[in-house]
Amino acid sequence: MSRSLTIVTTLSVALTCAAAAKSVAPVHVPLPRNNPLKNTEQEKQQSPKPAANLFSEKKLPSAGKATAIGYYPRGCLQGGVELPPTGPTWQVMRLSRNRNWGHPELVKFLERFAPLAAEATGWRGILIGDMAQPRGGPLPFGHKSHQIGLDVDIWFTPMPDRVLSKEERENILASDLVAADGKRVNDRIWSPADVAFVRTAAEQPEVERVLVNAAIKKELCRVEGQHDKAWMSKVRPWYGHADHIHVRLRCPADSPDCRAQPPVPGGDGCDKSLDHWFVDWILRLKIPEFGGSARGLKLKDLPPACAAVLNAPASPASAAMEERSEPRR
Ligand SMILES: [Zn+2]
Repeated sequence: MSRSLTIVTTLSVALTCAAAAKSVAPVHVPLPRNNPLKNTEQEKQQSPKPAANLFSEKKLPSAGKATAIGYYPRGCLQGGVELPPTGPTWQVMRLSRNRNWGHPELVKFLERFAPLAAEATGWRGILIGDMAQPRGGPLPFGHKSHQIGLDVDIWFTPMPDRVLSKEERENILASDLVAADGKRVNDRIWSPADVAFVRTAAEQPEVERVLVNAAIKKELCRVEGQHDKAWMSKVRPWYGHADHIHVRLRCPADSPDCRAQPPVPGGDGCDKSLDHWFVDWILRLKIPEFGGSARGLKLKDLPPACAAVLNAPASPASAAMEERSEPRR
């Protein structure tokens, strides 16, 4: 009741003021030509498609020399190459997403890292999640980064001793290694092999950062506290990342337009800086597992070279390969 009274009062004051202004100072105020609401609607219809849609429609990489262009969450990839879906010590999951593409440095890294990780952990091999789209660029769902062909998600779930079917690769879920309260790892499934897995990734020279859940970082600090931890500074706590690690490579030498991420702060990150991840309101934050998406980006928000990458013909090698192989879906 009192609320509606307030509205009436405000309205009547507004009307009074308008009337007073008219009588005192009759100024000509041009009316808007069009209904402003209608304009907004028109603008929406005319505004360009999200860059994520444009890039996800491209099923093959662009022709041209392999180059990572822009920044991890704002860029694209020229001349991307495909990681074969199945290798001796790896299998790619979620093939229908067509995100097993990257800069050749990323593909080379994975082919080298997979057997190293298998050896360090005792696993048969690794399961690989999202890399980048054929031409990189923003993804319509799942991530903000993974745009320039230098990011990859790798599961904590070991590769099984058989080749998974397409359906299994779509449906199997990765194991979540963090306890329900978010404050520690789940002791029932966490094992020393997981430490070896993260460590092996972080020790590789081309790796710039490895993102893991803060509870996992805390556990690594606890068990590796007495040892040489030169690699630990690269392991950074982040939201989600409880069932996979996110490995980010440095800008390759052949990519002058790749923007490096600021260096990780000194130290191993096992100090007080870790504490804020465990305060209640941070633990309660509902950040999507992979940190959201980049749907808001338009082509004009990306480096200008990305328009050329988007519109370039497909790389002849990838087109020929696609013709020989069976469709993904
Ligand atoms: Zn990721």
